[in-house]
Amino acid sequence: MPLEKSWVTSANSANCAFPLNNLPLGSMKTENGAACAVAIGDFAVNLTAAEAAGLISFAKPLCVDGNWDHLISEPSQTWASFRRTLKSALALGSSAEAGLNSYLVPLADITPNMPFIVAEYTDFYAGRHHATNVGTMFRGAENALPPNWLHIPIGYNGRASSVVVSGTDVRRPWGQLKGPNDDLPTFAPCARFDFELEMGAIVGRPSTGPVSVAQADAMIFGYVLLNDWSARDIQAWEYQPLGPFQAKATATSISPWIVMKEALEPCRTETPPREFELLPHLRDCGPMLYDIDLEVSLTPQGQKASTLARTNYREMYFSSAQQLAHHTTSGCSMRSGDLLGSGTISGPEKHQRGSLLELSWGGKEPMELAEGQSRSFLQDGDKLTLSGHAQGEGYLIGFGECSGVVLPALSNPFEGEKE
Ligand code: CA
Repeated sequence: MPLEKSWVTSANSANCAFPLNNLPLGSMKTENGAACAVAIGDFAVNLTAAEAAGLISFAKPLCVDGNWDHLISEPSQTWASFRRTLKSALALGSSAEAGLNSYLVPLADITPNMPFIVAEYTDFYAGRHHATNVGTMFRGAENALPPNWLHIPIGYNGRASSVVVSGTDVRRPWGQLKGPNDDLPTFAPCARFDFELEMGAIVGRPSTGPVSVAQADAMIFGYVLLNDWSARDIQAWEYQPLGPFQAKATATSISPWIVMKEALEPCRTETPPREFELLPHLRDCGPMLYDIDLEVSLTPQGQKASTLARTNYREMYFSSAQQLAHHTTSGCSMRSGDLLGSGTISGPEKHQRGSLLELSWGGKEPMELAEGQSRSFLQDGDKLTLSGHAQGEGYLIGFGECSGVVLPALSNPFEGEKE
């Protein structure tokens, strides 16, 4: 399908992130709280206000709450009819233009709000290049991938309460760190604070009991960009034997716009070749991934941005549908609004690595930035920005930006506690 035209003329360009083909859903802060919004061209449409004024109506009211929880929990037929209604109202020649025109807000003027309430959050470790790089650093190239890695998407249960929307500042955490000479640990601010470039999948319909990969795929409502902020020194001390805990609990940022799965369908692509055939319950049931170009940039305070890496979502070894199917094998129920982090998305080349841990090879090879500074890990005042888009036939499906600024650690939160 080619570029579809809208009466919002800034949407009708091959370089626009938010054409009529996309229609990503977000939430914006308002005087009264928050409003549901859709991005089109250089604008967001305040759908909560437009719905309340009777200028757009869906099969049932879907925008009253100011976020998309209600729509996300609906059957997929409702997702499709919602998109049809929205597309028809914003299409070139629509009679809705006269009414909706006054509900456009420039994207530059909006303050993002969480587009949905995260029910639960699970993070995976399912990018092969990332797992190989990290495994090589810590265990050597021979044992880089653990024996289970090519057979199941490795994951851990994270904290829904830690997920924040793009634009939220992130405070450098304190934590317990390994002693300098392998002696007693210390409690100190994290010195190796990092990002992880990931995609997040949002579960729409809930489930009880195991689901197939095809069923899991049908359950996914849409995708966001996701930055899993990571405290590497805290992680190194705490992770054995149960995996990361406080190292991943400071914050996880998501992009303000949810790209619905239907918008990404023309950009589907195959997973990489399999070294071992997957067991039947995890096997691919078609092209499982999407061709989404991803980029990460770092802007030191008061300086120009530097691109740190460019990669693509097709580098994942396990898709979100396979992760979701695996998540349910135990009988684990999945809830509407569950968020699944893909795992860090690195490509095979050095400039395609999705974390500073990999880019600086554990701090041994600092990255040179545009204005002469270098980074092994994030410094206070650094702004980290993820961006991404899929390429359709003559149009883009953009995700917008997922950014956050690192704030300095507070003074010792436990100062004065008895030794
Ligand atoms: Ca992660």
